[in-house]
Amino acid sequence: MKLNSLPRIRLANLPTPLQELPNLTRALKGPRIFVKRDDLTGLAFGGNKTRKLEYLMGEAAEQKADCIVTHAGFHSNWLTQAAAAARKVGMKIFMVKTGPHDGYDPEEYDGNHLLHFLAGASMKVVRPEKIAATVEETAAELKAAGLRPFILREMGSTPPGVAGYVNFFIELVAQTSNLGLCFDYLVHTTGAGGTQAGLIIGAKAFHTGMKVIGSTSGSRTKAEQTPRVFNLIQDSLQFIDMDVKVGMEDVVVYDQYADGYGYATEKKAEAVRMLAELEGLFLDPVYTASSMACLIDLCRKGAFKKENTVLFLHTGGSAALFAYKEPLRAFGEGKKAPWTIPPWSPDRH
Ligand SMILES: *Cc1c(COP(=O)(O)O)cnc(C)c1O
Repeated sequence: MKLNSLPRIRLANLPTPLQELPNLTRALKGPRIFVKRDDLTGLAFGGNKTRKLEYLMGEAAEQKADCIVTHAGFHSNWLTQAAAAARKVGMKIFMVKTGPHDGYDPEEYDGNHLLHFLAGASMKVVRPEKIAATVEETAAELKAAGLRPFILREMGSTPPGVAGYVNFFIELVAQTSNLGLCFDYLVHTTGAGGTQAGLIIGAKAFHTGMKVIGSTSGSRTKAEQTPRVFNLIQDSLQFIDMDVKVGMEDVVVYDQYADGYGYATEKKAEAVRMLAELEGLFLDPVYTASSMACLIDLCRKGAFKKENTVLFLHTGGSAALFAYKEPLRAFGEGKKAPWTIPPWSPDRH
């Protein structure tokens, strides 16, 4: 196994806390629920991308890159974390973002977009179909100007990024054995799939018997996400040089809790409010709200046994809450939301 010899730059404050959620447990009358606070990784506003970026930026530094080119959605947490990581190691960052139209530039800067602006990121906004070409074009321009760009693809869901979540598992096993805990399930949100791939590899490698449940962020269906995560697991096992048998049946995906990617929904808003009211814990409206809605629904349906222990992985993203202030307030007051598809979504055109 090569995990300990991969290039890595320390960016995260580890280990992140493992906490019990007693009020949520009581409210749902189901299994004992805990949270792993990867929203507290300590880089920018925290989140799961920090662990991935430790290995990705390690690779960039090894290749003597002097700037980063990457792409994602307009209000992406990935872009915030990538910008913070790049700035911390003294690199510039060039972002290609999706938007409702090329050159989209809203009047009000908020949420992650404001953070990208403050980090001095260079930004281009294009329609999704132009993303790949614009990324290559940007890297070529930088090279022509004498720079050494490093492209970060798939929001960090590539084998070095997956290594970050295999490493997460070593941390989790140490914490749980110290506390005498044994989790039956881990519930989290799956987007580009790197987090889920790393979690499944870790759960299998340590023979934990823990079932990893991924609730989608709405960008893909279960039929699309399952083979994607499975293939990423196989590529990552090769990259890390680990001998672990993982089958398609180990990839558990639910796709009914997000609607479209980034859409504001009643279900997600309920999950955000419930955790804030019960535990003083703030989720995010795009990702963690989906897996918490999934956890709540599975508890209500009796999918877990009362003696089970469930771990919820908080993957961060709460900076996005402020960009969703209008629908979050409307749902909270039982009113019709002014929008459900965000004004910055490429689905608006
Ligand atoms: C990116 C992200 C995810 C999804 O992680 P993937 O590894 O891309 O599947 C989940 N939660 C938050 C808050 C994120 O920013």
